[in-house]
Amino acid sequence: MTDNGNGQVAYKTTTVDEYAEDDVPLEVDPGDGTPFVVIPRGGVQEVGRSCYQLETKFGTYLVDAGLNQGDGGQFPDFRGLDEGQIDAVFLTHAHIDHIGAVPVIESRHLLSPRAPIITTRPTEALASTLLKDSLKIHKEQAEKPGREQLYTETDVRKVLDRFVPRGYIRGDIQDYVPNLPEQETLTFDFGNSAHLLGSAWIALETLGSRVVFSGDIGGRSNHLPDFDEPPKADSLFLESTYGGTENHDSASDIRTDIYTDAISAVRDQEPVLIPSFGVGRSQELLYIFKNRLHQLDNDTRSQIQLIYDGMSVSSTNTYNQHAHGEFASESIRNLRVSNGEDQPFLPE
Ligand SMILES: [Zn+2]
Repeated sequence: MTDNGNGQVAYKTTTVDEYAEDDVPLEVDPGDGTPFVVIPRGGVQEVGRSCYQLETKFGTYLVDAGLNQGDGGQFPDFRGLDEGQIDAVFLTHAHIDHIGAVPVIESRHLLSPRAPIITTRPTEALASTLLKDSLKIHKEQAEKPGREQLYTETDVRKVLDRFVPRGYIRGDIQDYVPNLPEQETLTFDFGNSAHLLGSAWIALETLGSRVVFSGDIGGRSNHLPDFDEPPKADSLFLESTYGGTENHDSASDIRTDIYTDAISAVRDQEPVLIPSFGVGRSQELLYIFKNRLHQLDNDTRSQIQLIYDGMSVSSTNTYNQHAHGEFASESIRNLRVSNGEDQPFLPE
């Protein structure tokens, strides 16, 4: 709990276990003196299944609902949530540890009938690719003993229909959620968190108190614009995955090493195989070659055939379509404007 200086308790956090042992409904009392309560439902002291519930006096919201692809609980702990209780979902970015559980919320009917999923345009586009891929994996895993399939294609389609994609914007929840009590005063603000195409921190404000959810921060990608500074907050929920890491190798040294090793292998007529995540990392890799291949002599360049496949095909299309304006770094914007490139992530 924190005092916001007005003698008012700005927020309260609780845990699912505090009230949900017997699956009893949530008993929180936001309102007089406590504008909101935040309940982490996953992603606490673990990597994966990020999910926060924000409870105000008149509404229930989620910030992210991810999947844990490692050991332990696969999906966030949704105990105590009633059918139709969730009024809106805010998504910070499209990585599956932040969105992979949204179809489960759909299949359990926890969303109100017209609950929107509010996020950025690139996050919507990447989520479509990632949720379809995640369903394929989920179905395979459901065949294993003791596992069951928890959602279907229909749930994924319904989820995608709920998206309300925007830029990095401010908004008033009343303009997005039909049938909210008129006393509800929640406003939101999205800013660039420089982690993945379209990634955002999200600030939510009600009754003079503000909470900021950082989402994942940074990733040292030179195709994304710089981080936007979030507003002052009464409480901050901050990603800390690498919080204990004092030094990373320099990102530009790593890019140069990858490129140099690949080109020397090409000169030795050896194939190079780079396993990589399809969304984000693949485009980072393609962009390394895009920026440097023109420096090679014609002979070496003619020996190079660059092949990318799997999920990186559709996600690179998304990057080419959506990496412009506020979502792209200056270098990408320059490629588009000065060179007329409409596929800035694809080397020739
Ligand atoms: Zn992420």
